[in-house]
Amino acid sequence: MTYNNENIFARIIKGEADCVKILENDYILSFMDVMPQTPGHTLVIPKYGTENIFDLPEEYFIHLMDAKQKIAKAIKKAYAPTGVMIMQLNGKEAGQTVFHLHFHIIPRKEGLNYKFHSSEIADFKDLRREAEKIKKWL
Ligand code: AMP
Repeated sequence: MTYNNENIFARIIKGEADCVKILENDYILSFMDVMPQTPGHTLVIPKYGTENIFDLPEEYFIHLMDAKQKIAKAIKKAYAPTGVMIMQLNGKEAGQTVFHLHFHIIPRKEGLNYKFHSSEIADFKDLRREAEKIKKWL
């Protein structure tokens, strides 16, 4: 499949679609997942048009890893989870639904209602409130 420049995450990078931002630099953008599996579910994407991990230029990896660690640490402070899940899916068969490379960071804890992947759209107001909790620790 060829990369589609009009996918929703490409449009978010271009500023054509809204998101609730967490962190941004020249290489990465991080924002709240609009269908959070738990409160605090965050995405990190490279500012490079690729569907999957296989075609990403080397220089992006360090920035993605750095952002994932920073955000995972902030999530630990914000929610005191007993687990933090970092997940990345390559291809439809792996469950990928948005075809711009992205990493999920999801706080997990017994009693924290874990919803199905891509199940329920959240209110932006709620996403902004959760984003503030995370950004406080970045
Ligand atoms: P995946 O199935 O790994 O491709 O995950 C795609 C993720 O993107 C899902 O968790 C969706 O809830 C999320 N998502 C889809 N559209 C948006 C959007 N406009 N803003 C933020 N997250 C989104």
